[in-house]
Amino acid sequence: MAVRVRYAPSPTGIPHVGNIRTALFDWLFARHEGGAFIVRIEDTDQARYDERALDAILESLRWLGLDWDEGPDIGGPHEPYFQSQRLEHYQRYARQLIEAGHAYQCFCSPERLAEARTEQQKRKEPPRYDRRCRDLSDAGREAEGGTPVVRFRTPLEGQTSFHDVVRGDIEFENVTIDDFIILKSDGFPTAHLAHIVDDHLMEISHVLRGDEWVSSTPRQILLYQALGWEPPQFVHLSIILGPDKAKLSKRHGAVSVLDYRDQGYLPEAMFNFLGLLGWSLDDHSVVIDREQFVQHFSLERIGKNPAVFDLEKLTWMNGVYLRELPEERLADLIAERLESDLPPSAPRPIDRETVRRLAPLIRERIKRLDEIAGMTEGFFTDELPYGAPELLGKGFKKDAAGAQEALRQAKARIEALPAWEHEALEASLRSLAEDLGVKAGELFMLLRVAVTGRPVSPPLFESMEVLGRERCLRRLDEAAGRLADAGD
Ligand code: GLU
Repeated sequence: MAVRVRYAPSPTGIPHVGNIRTALFDWLFARHEGGAFIVRIEDTDQARYDERALDAILESLRWLGLDWDEGPDIGGPHEPYFQSQRLEHYQRYARQLIEAGHAYQCFCSPERLAEARTEQQKRKEPPRYDRRCRDLSDAGREAEGGTPVVRFRTPLEGQTSFHDVVRGDIEFENVTIDDFIILKSDGFPTAHLAHIVDDHLMEISHVLRGDEWVSSTPRQILLYQALGWEPPQFVHLSIILGPDKAKLSKRHGAVSVLDYRDQGYLPEAMFNFLGLLGWSLDDHSVVIDREQFVQHFSLERIGKNPAVFDLEKLTWMNGVYLRELPEERLADLIAERLESDLPPSAPRPIDRETVRRLAPLIRERIKRLDEIAGMTEGFFTDELPYGAPELLGKGFKKDAAGAQEALRQAKARIEALPAWEHEALEASLRSLAEDLGVKAGELFMLLRVAVTGRPVSPPLFESMEVLGRERCLRRLDEAAGRLADAGD
């Protein structure tokens, strides 16, 4: 049987990483098997529909490169399927279920349902529909008036079971399942009906989804049976926990993959990281690229235990992928990042030549792209934000006069260098430290803040080379001037 999987998000909130992990597993399984990956937007809950959620879902998929294969249009880049455009299908099958006696119209008003619920609570029974309309004649039901919902006529006894690829056989007693609604009074289906109609019509072979759906599955199985359809295989994925072993939530920080994108994580790293949240290649591989995932992905290696979201691991992995990026792509990412993150005093567009020269210098020093602007600001603007305390650092803390002298002498030495190259700069400034009787590290920290504006920067001498003679000399003067002003 051909593998056909769907990612079926509800656009009711910004998607959680766990939700996108499902999409990734769907995509990997489809690509591994040479099957089809379908995206179906489950937008039948009109009250909770959120346009921003839809944009975030599609943007997350595109960012991770999870391309889908089909949609309602023919040719061209596909729009996903939207359930709100497919209402006639759900309505048709709801009618078919009524005609076959598997479902019935229910006219009970919200007030009557609330009353029944209160009664049940008094009797300490679980609150659920009391099946009042279940056995009324058609005429009796219509006499009730109002716009009906359609409810499934759940068998009153017996069991409903299914096999889950991850969890094995699961069985529910039918008495625990109420006569659930399949079509609402506004003509929209509930998720149960919409899932199974679409999964059937779209010939879905495997349903991958979060394990919060396990308890809904028997209702869906009952619907499949009533319609005489073969259910797909179910693959329920374990939840994702935060490092404190509580269910991952906003409390743990960002929970949307787009937040991680904005913080400067690479899609390659996020792909790798999410791919290992509940799946493993073997017992040791950690850095696994897209092709390897596609080559090896299998349902058998999906874990039963909850996966733990370890941000440190993601950040480490991001550093690994950053170091492997081709020069050109790294330069593009840096430039893009600087365009958005640098203060307005830095002229736009960002100078590409400087970016190209900086890229190899910062690659090893960053784990996230959002670290770049702070570290390289001084290459793009002359408005350096430091004050005397940063400049003096630990080394010259009590010796502003000594620092001024060091800045002046540094300027004098390097001004005279025949070539402005990092090796020569380093040799000259190391010997200055010796002559001044200060630690090289302390002198270099002073110079670093003076020429780059920051205590953390790309390597000092390479930075000076990129900045150029004139700018460095001017900045050494300016730093000495700031110290003199601070001392006044
Ligand atoms: N729309 C459901 C969700 O957002 C999908 C459930 C399923 O995949 O069957 O979780």
